[in-house]
Amino acid sequence: MKIAVLRETAAGEKRVAASPETVRKFIALGAQVAIENAAGLTASVSDAEYQAAGAEVGDRAAVVNGAGIILCVQGPEPASLAGANAGALVVGGLNPFGERARVDGYAGAGLEALAMEFMPRITRAQSMDILSSQSNLSGYKAVLDAAAEYGRAFPMMMTAAGTVSAARVFIMGVGVAGLQAIATARRLGAQVSATDVRAATREQIESLGAKPVFVEAVKGIEGEGTGGYASEMSPEYQKAQAELVSSHIAKQDIVITTALIPGRPAPRLISDAQIATMKPGSVIVDLAVEQGGNVEGAVAGEIVETHGVKIVGHKNVPSRLAADSSALFARNLYNFLSAYWDKDAAAPVLPDDDEIVKGIRLTQGGKVVNERLLG
Ligand code: NAD
Repeated sequence: MKIAVLRETAAGEKRVAASPETVRKFIALGAQVAIENAAGLTASVSDAEYQAAGAEVGDRAAVVNGAGIILCVQGPEPASLAGANAGALVVGGLNPFGERARVDGYAGAGLEALAMEFMPRITRAQSMDILSSQSNLSGYKAVLDAAAEYGRAFPMMMTAAGTVSAARVFIMGVGVAGLQAIATARRLGAQVSATDVRAATREQIESLGAKPVFVEAVKGIEGEGTGGYASEMSPEYQKAQAELVSSHIAKQDIVITTALIPGRPAPRLISDAQIATMKPGSVIVDLAVEQGGNVEGAVAGEIVETHGVKIVGHKNVPSRLAADSSALFARNLYNFLSAYWDKDAAAPVLPDDDEIVKGIRLTQGGKVVNERLLG
């Protein structure tokens, strides 16, 4: 089984879908690995390191030729995969809703596309979950990005010249990214508070030493949709949440928003009027900016200033920590493929009735087969 690892072509994408460690592990399973020239350079991995791990290095046509598995961070153009084996697996973050035409292209080319972001949220799949591994790093980086834009210190400092007070940091949305943001802001010495619509997060916020800020006594606080994700909230809840946020946000120095609802635009959590109540010099980081944004006025790929408040809207935040995000992404792919590896066939065998396979398989036998795309 030949595994091809592509050099990413999307603008601003610095990650790579294999690391020297996962190359060694795939070879130990009996696979051959071919890496596209310079695929790892932006993630601090040289061609020589891949070669030392046992991979061949070549151009796109050479690495794809005869490949049974193609690994990528973002989906490649189907035409660039000519020469791969019939039914070859294309495994990565394929953005199935956003890149639907490409998914049809994989089907047309007879490729079997597997979208890792459709991984079901079950215990068995935790080590394969690219959303978790990448969100965790985004939550960390969001705090550092906020600290870099903020003209003051995070921790309280008592100096001979006087006291510097601790920054107040408010995290909105306490999933994987939000939890890491709380932990990171606490480590930097900030006073941290956080909110979510899922009641289960209250305890998690407290256990990290932050203050929970919750809408009380309004129906809908459960907020838990399917698979541990949030559901959309009732109008009454949204109104109560807006009032709560208004009174809290005016006292904050840093706000980090991470709120997402699967399959829907990101919920709007902060209005322009609320931003106007914040102190000049405050910083907001909108991690949901590419899904429509939690913050009014946030612009994807830009840092904008409004009412003296900076709104940070970096795109592809995991790529800003490309070495670590690539290493974890690569392990997610390895953990998935190795779990289905058949030693005798020296290839993965993906059963049709398996929950993970059904969740992530987009195309098979020339057709789009995924329920979420067909429904
Ligand atoms: P996410 O990225 O979908 O959303 C981020 C957070 O925003 C969530 O906590 C959500 O409740 C919150 N949110 C949505 N609307 C909001 C609003 N209006 N106001 C405030 N907050 C709002 O979430 P996630 O990081 O993917 O994690 C969701 C849950 O799934 C977590 O409990 C996580 O531990 C769990 N999870 C489980 C697995 C697994 O078992 N394999 C894998 C990953 C995550």
